[in-house]
Amino acid sequence: MKFNVLTLFPEMFDSLSHSILKRAQEQELIEINTLNIRDFSTNKHKKVDDYPYGGGAGMVMKIQPVRDALLSIANHSSENSSRVVYLTPKGKVFNQKLACELALEDELTLLCGHYEGIDQRIIDEYVTDEISIGDYVLTGGELPAMVLIDSVARLRNGVLGQNVSYEDESHYSGLLEYAHYTRPSDFEGKKVPEVLLSGNHQLIEEYRLEESIKLTLKRRPDMIKKWQKNHELSRLEQKILDKYIDK
Ligand code: SAM
Repeated sequence: MKFNVLTLFPEMFDSLSHSILKRAQEQELIEINTLNIRDFSTNKHKKVDDYPYGGGAGMVMKIQPVRDALLSIANHSSENSSRVVYLTPKGKVFNQKLACELALEDELTLLCGHYEGIDQRIIDEYVTDEISIGDYVLTGGELPAMVLIDSVARLRNGVLGQNVSYEDESHYSGLLEYAHYTRPSDFEGKKVPEVLLSGNHQLIEEYRLEESIKLTLKRRPDMIKKWQKNHELSRLEQKILDKYIDK
């Protein structure tokens, strides 16, 4: 999967060259192609921003360099161009469902804003998706773009490696994930739940499901409602829910 990133600070994306995402790039499972918007400015001082029409504080990113950066990506000159995501606090709030949807694409173009944002005419003409990573305002779109790349890339085949799965993880299944433990089983008197040492896989699975439901009910009752609505509960799930609901 290829991520084209249009940014004024391409060096920030070097931080994606570690750990799992580094390996994914080495194995060519993902490619991160950063383009410095400033390189496309035709202004002799390489200016990329200007004062807002109508006045007000802050600067606005100009159309020309952003448009030319977009058009330099081969397929944006043609009809079947890839999705162009503008990271903005005004966008649809990012979540695991949207990450799964974007992970089906072979190429994504991410547009990082700065200052007050980008000239609206770029958004009207080229942007297919406006995405926010949460209800707060950051100084630029680089961290949001990195959040998006990380969460989408790890859903691509092979990126997490063979023995790691994301199906049980928080938000994927609609529930928060159960707690994890590793050796030693007894650390200064703090013990790992007995059932996890039992070797009985069915019991462990049931215990983990119960822990997940309990935790989600406690921390995210809104998620439990959606989970009940979007999926047919098994008898065991219903039994666990009945045990904890209203307690
Ligand atoms: N004036 C804008 C507003 O009120 O909506 C905020 C601009 S913000 C200071 C600068 C840039 O940071 C935005 O263009 C966007 O690319 C990025 N940004 C800030 N917060 C974000 C968020 N929560 N999600 C996604 N991108 C964000």
